[in-house]
Amino acid sequence: MEDDRLMLDKKNPFRIAQKQLDKAAKLMGLDPQILAILREPMRIYEFNIPVKMDDGSVKVFKGFRVHHNDARGPTKGGIRFHPDETLDTVKALSMWMTWKTAVLNLPYGGAKGGVIVDPQKLSKAELERLSREYARAVARFIGPEKDIPAPDVNTNPQIMAWMVDEYSKIMGYNSFGVITGKPLEIGGSLGRTEATARGGMFVLREGARRIGLDLSKAKVAIQGHGNVGGFAHKVIKEIFGSKVVAISDVSGGLYNPNGIDYNEVMEYKSKNKGLLAGFPEAKPISNEELLEMDVDVLIPAALENQITGDNADKIKAKIVLELANGPCTPEADEILFKKKILQIPDILANAGGVTVSYFEWVQNINGYYWTEEEVYQRLDQWMTRSAKDVFDTAEKYKVEPRMGAYIVAVKRVADAIKVRGWV
Ligand code: GLU
Repeated sequence: MEDDRLMLDKKNPFRIAQKQLDKAAKLMGLDPQILAILREPMRIYEFNIPVKMDDGSVKVFKGFRVHHNDARGPTKGGIRFHPDETLDTVKALSMWMTWKTAVLNLPYGGAKGGVIVDPQKLSKAELERLSREYARAVARFIGPEKDIPAPDVNTNPQIMAWMVDEYSKIMGYNSFGVITGKPLEIGGSLGRTEATARGGMFVLREGARRIGLDLSKAKVAIQGHGNVGGFAHKVIKEIFGSKVVAISDVSGGLYNPNGIDYNEVMEYKSKNKGLLAGFPEAKPISNEELLEMDVDVLIPAALENQITGDNADKIKAKIVLELANGPCTPEADEILFKKKILQIPDILANAGGVTVSYFEWVQNINGYYWTEEEVYQRLDQWMTRSAKDVFDTAEKYKVEPRMGAYIVAVKRVADAIKVRGWV
């Protein structure tokens, strides 16, 4: 029944995730018993979170935490606070985390969490109570050797700090390794905030090298200006000298053919509730216009299902760097591959975040902290090595890079399942 309903909805992220896995399984001749294990999450936890609001009333929010697979180690993945969150989205994102940690060869499985909430509508005190209640609800479901959450859409180091504090109080000892993406004061890692964007740059460099694109002359459009897209705007200029000509957020898009200055934008955002709308140095554009812009590199860094069968044909970029999770549908993948656009898949492109989360966890366990330079140097090594694995595998199988990444990842997970004796 559920499967039938999923089949009807082409944009259901969990259906998309299963479809991607099925395609990879076929290409690599995966044992059907292993496929059956991997098509569904191992554990799903769904709960109500009653939160006292500032006016004394109580509101009930729905929360989720899904462990997709832990064959290669404790599960790992972020927590999203979003009004449109659904269990299927969290299930899909948890599966993508299993592949992401495996592509990077991090000793983890995959998980994801979410709450159906619009955090913009909460006061700081309400947000803190919601975060603490979430941590209480999942306390027995997470742990440094069990499942390790981190930030994602609309969550940040402060929220992680409240959750770590709550968890530590419940356990009766400090347990900083239970969550990553923490503030520096309580065991966070240098370089974690920019890690997803920076990691993306190292794989972009490898991709551009392979198609002979000079990034110092490249024009770039970025969709989304939050935890990931905002820093991508900063570091792509810093590292390669590329020109960011278009950016967007929930309030709309902006275009300036001469380039949009990161510092000016951040100063404007700080005075404008964190939003881009009305920024004077650029022309307003729509989200569709941004995606279809004549640029060299297009970076979707917002939510799922942005490039679909309806608009993929209009994409003009030479490289699509998926810093968001799930920004392209399978139909879009096929069209981009036919158009010979190099699509760098999410499970590789945005894995810099979880890679530095891994570094953070290693530093917590050892109680010995690295310099920012050490973090970035190691991030470069891990990302570049994985990018090579993915592009080489895609070339060998003559498939799009997403399938290259899946083949690398699914094989690692399948090997762990076999050696553990699950099949
Ligand atoms: N939320 C990020 C992701 O989707 C990071 C996860 C983590 O650091 O565990 O990859």
